Amino acid sequence: MAKEVLYSSTRGALGQIKASEAILRGLAPDGGLYVPDHIPHLEKTLREIAQLDYRETAYEVMKLLLTDYTEEELKYCISHAYDSKFDTEEIAPISEADGAFYLELYHGATIAFKDMALSILPYLMTTAAKKNNVKNEIVILTATSGDTGKAALAGFADVPGTRIIVFYPKHGVSPIQEQQMVTQKGDNTCVIGIEGNFDDAQTGVKKIFTDKELSAELDAKGFQFSSANSINIGRLVPQIVYYVYSYAKLLKEGRIAEGDSINVVVPTGNFGNILAAYYAKNMGVPIAKLICASNSNKVLFDFFQTGEYDRNREFVLTSSPSMDILISSNLERLIYHIAGDNAEKDASLMAQLTQTGKYEITPAMREKLVDFFGGFATEEETAATIKKVFDKTGYLMDTHTAVASSVYSKYVEQTGDKTVTVIASTASPFKFTRSVMNALGKGDESKDDFALADELSAVSGVEIPEAVSSIRTAEIRHKTVVDKTQMQSAVMDFLAK
Ligand SMILES: *Cc1c(COP(=O)(O)O)cnc(C)c1O
Repeated sequence: MAKEVLYSSTRGALGQIKASEAILRGLAPDGGLYVPDHIPHLEKTLREIAQLDYRETAYEVMKLLLTDYTEEELKYCISHAYDSKFDTEEIAPISEADGAFYLELYHGATIAFKDMALSILPYLMTTAAKKNNVKNEIVILTATSGDTGKAALAGFADVPGTRIIVFYPKHGVSPIQEQQMVTQKGDNTCVIGIEGNFDDAQTGVKKIFTDKELSAELDAKGFQFSSANSINIGRLVPQIVYYVYSYAKLLKEGRIAEGDSINVVVPTGNFGNILAAYYAKNMGVPIAKLICASNSNKVLFDFFQTGEYDRNREFVLTSSPSMDILISSNLERLIYHIAGDNAEKDASLMAQLTQTGKYEITPAMREKLVDFFGGFATEEETAATIKKVFDKTGYLMDTHTAVASSVYSKYVEQTGDKTVTVIASTASPFKFTRSVMNALGKGDESKDDFALADELSAVSGVEIPEAVSSIRTAEIRHKTVVDKTQMQSAVMDFLAK
């Protein structure tokens, strides 16, 4: 049997815990992120994996990292997560367009790539609770600017032993995103708009999380909080699967030969998705370049360029809002690894980030980043890419994917590198209908987002996804709006039900 993988905090010597415990805790008590003590190599060859379907591939990968789950437990989690909630048997299909392979990660319930991990996290978490004799009901608290909230709601709805509370800025999400959340079904779900912005929501949630008196009070009532954020290792591990799957798929279809390298391009915000690709590479998938694509909030581009991470800059609102972020939490895991799994070094850099908003890595650490390439796309380039690829090939992509596609074109121009390339396609174009229609030159200020979805469907010949059509006339189940100072009492009200 393979060696057990244990997890410890990126920031300190709090000791090692098992995978299921790390999933239950989410964030380490010292504010660090849980990282594996070693990265296991795939046991089957990629040729063998090419014969497996998505669920079987998921098992092959996840069993290596979540070593304290039994075969039966993992297979239970996988079969309940990757089922008819996805609109295709393949779960993560690949489309070829304009010289690249688009790995479509948006065929789940909420039509964004967050579904790939948030469909399985509830099962991993409730299984972990059983394994660790947790008697309390688990209460997932989430602040969202749009995508994570809905994907977490869909994942945890009606999952026994859990409740989920999502706070969103009442005036800060798109109409389709809001409609997706307020129509959410499930007796254990609670969606609350707040009079305040996303930062207020996030600050309020963190305050509730770290309130020791409150947690004791809740414990007495049989509840404990947990997190569905991308800092949870239970979100990262399922994301490694689709990089293994896509390589094996290209191999099976004869697009590459065994041992050939591929490049991967990932539209990046919190650095979770591309970190999963990095882990896949370290598990034995021949990935040459990890191309990190940013929008105008190009902190990561500058970091790969200079070795300095500097969040002291203006926050820009873009047409790819899920990538509008200045602190990429998951980069901390990479920093820890390139420092030689050195928690002390990581902790000191993260302390600098908190105090001054920036830090600089050493030349030795920079050398370990040779496989990464940072790029960014402006708003104009993003829109032009959507139109160019659609006009040329009929393939329609969303704004986030277009950032990646644009960066890829510039990468090829700059390097001449013709390696077979997989672009992570992270959302359906119907989730960001207005921006996509604007990019195609067919925007219309007088129409609402649903009317624009009809037109996008007519223009592209792509059917409106169920996730959009089903909420159009759905009953609005969540109407609570509270001031940002009233978040805690809103939580208590819901838990008293
Ligand atoms: C969350 C998200 C991203 C960014 O992914 P990270 O793992 O945070 O880097 C990109 N595109 C879409 C559509 C997203 O929802």
